[in-house]
Amino acid sequence: MLSFDTFARKWKIDPAPLCPVVERYPFRLNPYFEGLVQETGDAVWKQVVPDVREVLDPSGFEDPLSEERLSPVPNLVHRYPNRVLWLVSDQCAVHCRFCTRKRRWRSGPPAAESMPDPALALDYISKHRQIQDVLLSGGDPLLLAPEHLREILSRLREIKHVQIIRIGTRVPCALPGRITPELAGVLAEFHPLFVNIHFNHPVEITAESQRACSILANAGIVLGSQTVLLRGVNDSEEILAKLFHRLLCARVRPYYLMQMDLTAGTAHFRTPISTGLQILRKLRNRISGPAMPHFVVDLPGGRGKAPLLPNMIREIGSGMMIVQNYLGELCRYPLLEGEEEGLLSEIGNFRF
Ligand SMILES: *Cc1c(COP(=O)(O)O)cnc(C)c1O
Repeated sequence: MLSFDTFARKWKIDPAPLCPVVERYPFRLNPYFEGLVQETGDAVWKQVVPDVREVLDPSGFEDPLSEERLSPVPNLVHRYPNRVLWLVSDQCAVHCRFCTRKRRWRSGPPAAESMPDPALALDYISKHRQIQDVLLSGGDPLLLAPEHLREILSRLREIKHVQIIRIGTRVPCALPGRITPELAGVLAEFHPLFVNIHFNHPVEITAESQRACSILANAGIVLGSQTVLLRGVNDSEEILAKLFHRLLCARVRPYYLMQMDLTAGTAHFRTPISTGLQILRKLRNRISGPAMPHFVVDLPGGRGKAPLLPNMIREIGSGMMIVQNYLGELCRYPLLEGEEEGLLSEIGNFRF
């Protein structure tokens, strides 16, 4: 790990104005991801280099998704009836400056030691039989020592009603050397197991990250991706088309494109909702269907994720609807008799 002073000296930036930022939100970058900054510049730089706006932004919330309130025991978020989010690690390969959980960042000791006893979470999960699906996140679960990870996974698998295990990670993207056949072997003992990888930009698809993905895919793990829509990093149709296509080539199926959460100190990354919708509309049918993610906004207060869709229906009338296709052409489509009213109320085009 690189200290911020060393980084600042090397990259010739003045560390002084950024001291209060890294004091509050520690800097974390590893040599691999720093190498990407070297090769690709801005898109990676903005994701990991502290910015004074992080401590100047008066808007947003420390915990925009009310995860603490929705935690029946420490580090376990139970929002939806059938699935829980379990934060099993408190360390990441890099600190993404737009992180939703930056309130939890520590500069302290490595994972495991500083995390509370998993017994509490396991006990809660085993006592709630409606929980079918457990999502491991953090921090990054794939930074745990393989034996520690195996311990957690096997104790989960002992709970009969837990049918699906998912892991959210940025390691294959941000520290791909950590993905080894041994680690994949551990994961493969616990199928059905799904891994969702955080990728934001096509430059992150390197020979190394492709290798990491193929080790996981070869172990029979179904791979998905999560991408955060970030102003000045990936908020364009061209960049995201390239990213989603390259992910599919790496056997990673794009799963979510996420609107930036309302996290304190991240307003400079936020795009208007219309940006995401426009990008989605332009990408539909320009890239392969399986390369298209859902665009979701995670609603404040822990109200859940809502998928947002661009409205391709432009007009309704005279027994017709006018639908815009992927080229932007307006196409007529005949409606059934008496269908108009129902359709109008379904698409609900109103303001309050
Ligand atoms: C995102 C999330 C999930 C998983 O949602 P899916 O739509 O099933 O991927 C579960 N619990 C919490 C608290 C979440 O934030």
